[in-house]
Amino acid sequence: MNKSAREGISDVDWRDWRWQMRNRIRTVEALRDWVDPTQEEAKAITELAQRFHFVITPYFASLMDAENPDCPIRKQVVPNWAERFDPAGLADPLDEVAHSPVKNVIRVYPDRIAFCVNNECALYCRYCLRKRMVGDEDWTMQKRELEVALDWIAKTPEIRDVLLTGGDPLVFSDRKLEWLLIRLREIPHVELIRLGTRLPVTLPFRVTDSLCRMLKKYHPIWLNTHFNHPSELTPEAAEACDRLLRAGIPVGNQSVLLRGVNDSTEIMQTLCEKLVRMRVRPYYVYQAQLLEGTQHFRVPIEEGITIFKEMRGRTSGFAIPQYVLDTPHGKVPLDYPFAKGREGDDFVVEAWDGAIWREPNPR
Ligand code: SF4
Repeated sequence: MNKSAREGISDVDWRDWRWQMRNRIRTVEALRDWVDPTQEEAKAITELAQRFHFVITPYFASLMDAENPDCPIRKQVVPNWAERFDPAGLADPLDEVAHSPVKNVIRVYPDRIAFCVNNECALYCRYCLRKRMVGDEDWTMQKRELEVALDWIAKTPEIRDVLLTGGDPLVFSDRKLEWLLIRLREIPHVELIRLGTRLPVTLPFRVTDSLCRMLKKYHPIWLNTHFNHPSELTPEAAEACDRLLRAGIPVGNQSVLLRGVNDSTEIMQTLCEKLVRMRVRPYYVYQAQLLEGTQHFRVPIEEGITIFKEMRGRTSGFAIPQYVLDTPHGKVPLDYPFAKGREGDDFVVEAWDGAIWREPNPR
């Protein structure tokens, strides 16, 4: 970290999430306060930021290695010249637009929806699945559009589980978020409200006591966040997760498997074990989608399967997340086939250490 950039900022400002939002990094010059951008990074910021926004919170920038462009934190948010070459990349690989009964509501399963209430994030991840919409004004939800979506939910009794996502719902003020929660809680068939947010990772100061006091009035509320690398597990991030947990909100983690960020058994295991120590459950790891400008991030699925196979038996079972491929038909688990199937009167399995076991299997 470039210490001089942090030293010029008071602790009060630094820990104020609104100060962080106001002072986000948007240019090569501003990034120079934190790291020494390579010529290629500088060129990519200038020429590619129009394709997908370049915005970073000072907090997240402070986690970057100032000298190393291969830093896994830096790779996630600083544009890379490789984004230009991606013949297979699609704007909407999950066909989410076709699954939207009303603006910004995505329905793939009968009983649950992703409700993209906000198109803004604290920063923009270069591999974002929703890069077609985040930070783009056309996808902003006006209050009347939120009302249309709420009406649709109210008139669709099968919907029992609503994921508030975006963008990032915690970029909303407490007041705006509470308005939404009150409206959802007026709908009797909505049993569960989930928040999908990266702010505990990218701007942990957003998780204030007043936010948690407000959220706990609308239980059951669950929250999934998005840590990708052990370096993101800072004391500030741990404090944010602890505050949510103490408000009775179960916190899970969803990562994306990213080349050069977390594509090794060692890094993934460290990440998951440290999450568990913070009482955050590693829930899903997503295979990176065929998303435009992200070829350099993709890892072959076989490599991903091997990472999670290698974690089995070497760490606590609940520290191993489910590796999944998201498709327009929903999520598909990408498991190593430990269960080999029936052979005569036995069911044959492979244990974590490679031993083959035959379990007598009733007919
Ligand atoms: S925080 Fe989430 S929604 Fe926002 S840019 Fe990153 S991946 Fe996309």
